[in-house]
Amino acid sequence: MGTYRIAAIPGDGIGKEVIAAGCQVLEHLASGHSDLTLEFEVFPWGSDAYLETGAMMPEDALDTLRGFDAIYFGSAGDPRVPDHISLWKLRLAICQGLDQYANIRPTRLLPGLSSPLKTGTPQTIDWFIVRENSEGEYSGAGGRVHQALPNEVGLDVSVITREGAERIQRFALDIARARPRKKLTFVTKSNAQRHAMVLWDDVFEEVTQDYPDVQTERVLVDAMAARFVTDPESIDTVVATNLHADVLSDLAAALSGSLGLAPTGNINPEREAPSMFEPIHGSAFDIMGHGSANPLGAIWSASLMLEHLGEKNAATQLLGAIERVTADGSSLPRDLGGQAGTDEVTGTVCDAL
Ligand code: NAD
Ligand code: MN
Repeated sequence: MGTYRIAAIPGDGIGKEVIAAGCQVLEHLASGHSDLTLEFEVFPWGSDAYLETGAMMPEDALDTLRGFDAIYFGSAGDPRVPDHISLWKLRLAICQGLDQYANIRPTRLLPGLSSPLKTGTPQTIDWFIVRENSEGEYSGAGGRVHQALPNEVGLDVSVITREGAERIQRFALDIARARPRKKLTFVTKSNAQRHAMVLWDDVFEEVTQDYPDVQTERVLVDAMAARFVTDPESIDTVVATNLHADVLSDLAAALSGSLGLAPTGNINPEREAPSMFEPIHGSAFDIMGHGSANPLGAIWSASLMLEHLGEKNAATQLLGAIERVTADGSSLPRDLGGQAGTDEVTGTVCDAL
């Protein structure tokens, strides 16, 4: 147990609402542990700052963040600012600048909740999606030329490097190895994309030689989307490139109940810089300011943050509180079929703690 400095960046839209909720729960949790101290500093970065100053965050933001043990992030995205600016100048700038190359997305059907997949037979969802978080289709390589002319061109170049592929694949294989089923599904699209994705496959072929105890399979991304729906129990740990895992993990989140529930961590596995934890959802323009946002994704993300900080007991206690709230079912947010607003759900999680 120890003292940790947390940089909270609520950002935009419901990010502000769910990070406030998450901080409240974390403070309540820490108040019950004399040997766990969480020191929050809140940074008002995001689209409000952009509209005021022209910058989503200050120039020395990454240096500031390096002084923290972890980052707790809400969302970047505001109807008044183009999405590619809000995302690239805040969230992606942090992920790339701090080399948080591994994005983790545990997905579980929590007690009491139902999935659109529920068919009457007992069904479990317990997936762990590992997303490459630094290159692929979101590397930022590309350009736009001949603007506004008929021959205008836009290019986003998918970048796969041997080093980038190897480090994320080993990270995923290590996770698969530590889970009971020791099973990893490797997602690719090397039938259609014949350069970068074939390198992605070749590296996997080599790296798996070091993991004879992990059962692996190779699945094309389109078939994988179908597998999530038709055979969810066949899936355990999954590794995929940046774009593929982005899409698959929103699908996974919806299949496990709601996007509002799903947590993620942007991990720097070597711990050379702080890692960043956030709900996978965005700013939810349609419900921001209503007080109805589901805070459970942000709260589950806080549990991932505690686990990363080495506070396994506190992390498990927090996840247990979330599970008690979903199992009980009397205080569920609207996206999970209930009536409770953000504050009520947050209070119920605190009570469950
Ligand atoms: P979104 O996740 O904001 O919303 C999708 C749908 O899910 C909406 O109907 C929304 O109401 C619902 N939803 C999401 N989170 C919820 C919650 N906690 N409780 C209840 N309902 C919830 O995705 P979008 O509409 O594609 O994007 C909106 C904005 O957010 C865009 O600017 C986008 O760029 C940004 N965004 C940011 C991040 C990020 O910062 N990590 C991620 C995704 C989207
Ligand atoms: Mn996404």
